[in-house]
Amino acid sequence: MLEHLKHPVFKTIANAAAELNFPTYVIGGHVRDCLLKRESKDLDIVCLGDGIKLAQKVADNLKGKPKVSVFKNFGTAMIKSGDWEIEFVGARKESYSRNSRKPEVESGTLEDDQNRRDFTINAMAISLNAEDYGSLVDPFNGVKDLKAGIIRTPLSPAETYSDDPLRMMRAIRFATQLNFEIEEASLEAIKQEKDRIKIISMERIKDELNKIILAEKPSLGFKLLFDTGLLQIFFPQMANLQGVEFRNGKGHKDNFYHTLEVLDNISENTDDLWLRWAAILHDIAKPPTKRFDPKVGWTFHGHEDRGARMVPKIFNQLKLPLDSKMKYVQKLVRLHLRPIALVKETVTDSAVRRLLFEAGDDVDDLMTLCAADITTKNERKQQRYTKNFKLVEEKLKEVEEKDRLRQWQPPISGDEIMEYFALPPSKEVGLIKTAIREAILDGDIQNNREEAWEKMLEVGENLGLQP
Ligand code: ATP
Repeated sequence: MLEHLKHPVFKTIANAAAELNFPTYVIGGHVRDCLLKRESKDLDIVCLGDGIKLAQKVADNLKGKPKVSVFKNFGTAMIKSGDWEIEFVGARKESYSRNSRKPEVESGTLEDDQNRRDFTINAMAISLNAEDYGSLVDPFNGVKDLKAGIIRTPLSPAETYSDDPLRMMRAIRFATQLNFEIEEASLEAIKQEKDRIKIISMERIKDELNKIILAEKPSLGFKLLFDTGLLQIFFPQMANLQGVEFRNGKGHKDNFYHTLEVLDNISENTDDLWLRWAAILHDIAKPPTKRFDPKVGWTFHGHEDRGARMVPKIFNQLKLPLDSKMKYVQKLVRLHLRPIALVKETVTDSAVRRLLFEAGDDVDDLMTLCAADITTKNERKQQRYTKNFKLVEEKLKEVEEKDRLRQWQPPISGDEIMEYFALPPSKEVGLIKTAIREAILDGDIQNNREEAWEKMLEVGENLGLQP
């Protein structure tokens, strides 16, 4: 493992540990990532001794003497040095009681410390001690599981998950990020212990969920969340998308698997968490808007508006931010059918202008979502949709170049209208502004000051106003 200890920081830590006479190891995620050849600048250091003391000694010996952040309650300390974030802790032994995920902690051996780790691939350590510097300590065959792509707990799975139910989320997160299988007994244990997730705060669940969403193929994680029953507990609205109902021989598509396809599609084109969230939520209101019409079959009328209205509650429930990110997701959910609706009619400039006006700078993201939403397996339909989609794309570009509606600012401000007609703030001012905007969107006038001024005079006159 010596090749993984080339950076001078490891020698600095080893020297400080030797001075204090604390046997010391690199442990956990960093070791795993080294073996997977993934870059990692997060370092967890475990020592047989006082982790805080070791951190202080290391900081003294490092260039620039970085600050040591001490977390007394946890007995840990952290140093940032360049890109590195190094966390120090004394080896510990943990025992859990049934009602809490806060364990009793006492100091222990390296083996005790490895036993309390969540997965075999996260329990490996590299020695920083003179007698066996660079050797791997791998009591649970983590290397073997890493090669085989298996998520396995070091000790009994049921106990591991029940002790700290966040590990269920972590198992699914690692399986998704690394494209690994969760070992059979572990998967069974998660199904059995799923209700224990309720003792975990939503913030921590959300952090894992967002990591799943940011993985290369997020559907893997959502399928596991659904199959284990976890999704039903903390995000039932999404689980409700699953299933197909038949009536008079007519079925509809399974909206859960459709949503996952859209999510995977969009993930090929964006790393943006919130655009991925828009994909997750675009059809979220299909279950509550579902109706059966004997003539046309299944309908989901208004699911885009209803879905947009569901977004704040879902963001609140999942402890996602209730700020501009939420508004952005809401907007994309509300508008997700619009580009496709455009291609069904003849694409008029006016309809395109209105879409540009409403979507503003998010129009490209909306188009990305729309493209990802084309999941039909019917070759002919697929070709037709794609062709129409391209048409809308061109049209959008054309109209945008001509009319610059993306960051639309009224060509004449309310202040100017008030000044010209000597009006106080009033209904009339709003009427004039709206009339100008509508005339531009309808294509009656161009988006410029001169034509807007003419329009203002005309509307003012109709309202009986004097300059
Ligand atoms: P990533 O950096 O991708 O989040 P990581 O494995 O480094 O992965 P951390 O949360 O930083 O994740 O955890 C560091 C190490 O601490 C893990 O590798 C694991 O050994 C241990 N660990 C973290 N959380 C738990 C937990 N809930 N139960 C048991 N061990 C854990």
